[in-house]
This record gives sequence, C-alpha cells and structure tokens, in this order.
Amino acid sequence: MTKVLVWCENVQNKTQENVIAAYPEGMHNTLAGFLSADGGLSVTTATLDDPDCGVTDEKLAETDVVLWWGHVAHGQVPDAVVERLYGRVVTNGMGLIALHSSHFSKIFKRLMGTSCALAITKPGYGAEKLWTLLPGHPIARGIPNPVEIEAEETYNEYFDIPQPDELVFNAAFEGCGSFRAGAAYHRGRGKVFYFQPGHETYPVYRQKEVQEILLNAVYWAVGKARG
Ligand code: ZN
Repeated sequence: MTKVLVWCENVQNKTQENVIAAYPEGMHNTLAGFLSADGGLSVTTATLDDPDCGVTDEKLAETDVVLWWGHVAHGQVPDAVVERLYGRVVTNGMGLIALHSSHFSKIFKRLMGTSCALAITKPGYGAEKLWTLLPGHPIARGIPNPVEIEAEETYNEYFDIPQPDELVFNAAFEGCGSFRAGAAYHRGRGKVFYFQPGHETYPVYRQKEVQEILLNAVYWAVGKARG
C-alpha cells in the first residue's frame, strides 16, 4: 500500500460561507475520499488543528506522499514542520504535491528556492482549459485534452518558479492569460508536483478528471505504476 497524507490548513471552511458550500465536509475529507477509493492507497488527513500540524517525524516515517493545500495560514506552519517535510523529500524520497494556493506555502517555496509569486488576471475568476503538454507523462495518462473546468481562479504568468523538469499541463483562462498549471520537479531523492486547480470556493476536487490527475500524480510521486 502507498501511504498518503492529505494536509489542508482547514481555516476558511470553518467560517466562510462560499467555502463551506463548496466543501461542506472539509476539503481534506473530499481529497481523502476519492483517493482512498483507490485500492492501492492508504490515506490519512491532518490539518493546522493537529498538534505539530499532524506532521510529526513518526507520521512522516510512515508516509510516502503528501498532498498539501494552504492559503491564508501559511505563516502558521512552524518552520520545524517545514524542515521535517523538506528532509523527508530530499533525503528519504517522499513525494510532495502542492495544490493551488500552496504555491506560496513555506514547504513549496523551500523546495523551489524562488519567490513562487504569480499574477491573478482580472476579473480573477473564469472558465479554465487545462491543456496537456506531455501526453506521454504518467500524470497525463488517460486525461482528456483539454480538461474543461467551469470556474477557477485565473492565475497568470509570470509565475516565479524554477524551470520545471517536466511541464505536464498549461492552463488557459477565458478572456485572459495562461499559466504553468502542472509542473513536475525532482528534488534530491524525492519528486514534487505543483498543480494549479483547487480554489477553495469552487468544488474542482469533485471533478473526475481532476481527481484522476491527482491519483496519477500520487503514483508518479512514489515511482509506482498505477494499476
Ligand atoms: Zn485561490
């Protein structure tokens, strides 16, 4: 079994009505729900509410890949937790999948070594087409081209990331810009994937094609073929 830890900060969905509407059960539970429906994955969740963010040495010692979603509370993740994650990726080969606004998470910035800043094109929200650039890549396997997402936040270039080792997806937003939406990296012994869809007020993690991409990414991150 591949052991997956889904980490979401779990802040806005306690008070913000449009976030609660999109993910009434909490985004971490949505993500864990479809991932754990895959017979090869053993999935647990953790949030800011857990002691040490639920990201202890003991927990990481039994984790193969982490999915990370943060937005308003990046600064509340202790640096010690970030270093623990970083060490597991580069030294032990743990996979890390950074979702949406986690482009600004401490751990993603630590792994990239750049500002990871981006632009958001006005009006800020719109339809997205997610185009596959590497159809032979394991993360793109079986994914329609393009994936059409009804509404997303319109992230735009310039996105200050290092040149991706593999740029798997590019997003085009109706009436505005484009964005490197699926970027894969090797860091030490580990693999890192950044994936843009996942704004908290749109239930994109319920969309089948998006779920399939994340399942592919989990298997890619641990170097296993998806059954
Ligand atoms: Zn967002």
